[in-house]
Amino acid sequence: MSRFLSDRKSGLVSYVPGEQPRDRRYIKLNTNESPYPPSEKAVKNAAAAAERLMLYPDPTYLSLREALGGTYSVAPECITVGNGSDEILNFAFAAFCCHERPAVFPDVTYGFYPIFAEQNGVPYRTVPLNSDFSLPDGMLDGEKCVFFIANPNAPTGIFTPVERIREAALRHPELLYVIDEAYVDFGAESCAGLTKELDNVLVTGTFSKSRSMAGARLGFGIGCPELIKDLDLIRNSINPYNVSMMTAAAGIGALSDPEYTSDNCRRIIRSRGRLISEMKKSGFDVTDSLGNFVFARHPSISGEEIYLSLRRKGILVRHFGGKRTGDYNRITVGSEEEADALIGALSAIIEEKGILR
Ligand code: PMP
Repeated sequence: MSRFLSDRKSGLVSYVPGEQPRDRRYIKLNTNESPYPPSEKAVKNAAAAAERLMLYPDPTYLSLREALGGTYSVAPECITVGNGSDEILNFAFAAFCCHERPAVFPDVTYGFYPIFAEQNGVPYRTVPLNSDFSLPDGMLDGEKCVFFIANPNAPTGIFTPVERIREAALRHPELLYVIDEAYVDFGAESCAGLTKELDNVLVTGTFSKSRSMAGARLGFGIGCPELIKDLDLIRNSINPYNVSMMTAAAGIGALSDPEYTSDNCRRIIRSRGRLISEMKKSGFDVTDSLGNFVFARHPSISGEEIYLSLRRKGILVRHFGGKRTGDYNRITVGSEEEADALIGALSAIIEEKGILR
């Protein structure tokens, strides 16, 4: 740190993303990226946009918002776009949370939420999940606050039914429900439709997972026009050109190719089913994940040991540590071949430990 870092920021603990190592080639199952390339239409659009890079992008991103509006059946004024959904989530903490209205989220969830809260100088409170990582009864009730609910949750993959969120939001018009749907496309159901009925539900989504565009950094928020205006107030006060012209064009291309996205999602869902059943056969406890990842622990081998052993075998997974998650690893569902390699490596680790199946 330099001697110029402001006191306001000196205590900040930043988010630690999954490693992107360069020391050797790994099978990367640690950052929930897609194993498949982006749609050719996305790539073609991005290349065409590259020829116009001497210009700034349209700061209203109208074409992209219209395309998203078509996909999610909402009007363009109900959508804003961001540099990944992380940026939209950060804008939501900045726009809606304050001392009188803290952020509330589960104790086991996306590790960026507490950091967004700290970074924006707003208080937050966590609520312990049930032992099976489901939301406890009453979790979505409460005092004046903003809920941040990853749905499916990360890193567990557990999905909370839309109807439960709808009922809570109807019961509590004074509370805001931010539903982070980074992983919704792998068999879960979206709350996007609720935003037409309820002005206290905001949905965030991303192109990083099902649309294979993590490197492009593109996310979006869907909510009533007033919520979107608030997010745009923050966006326009920080960086009105927050999405690059190439990324916006790639996003429109990806949205014009929904069959490609849904085919890839189907392949990942199939691979996830096989992974879960093979891992259960090997004695793992695996949550019922609806994400493009599984969350698993072995009763006789520590989470850290599995992580390190897989790493030595050239497979990277995500180990978070912590009281409730330390026994587990979060493993991205890759291609069929990657799943084969993972299953083989896990069997070898179990054999090396001399554990009988
Ligand atoms: N929400 C959750 C739960 C995530 O796991 C991620 C990915 N790390 C994000 C949001 C942000 O994804 P992106 O910024 O790539 O859209």
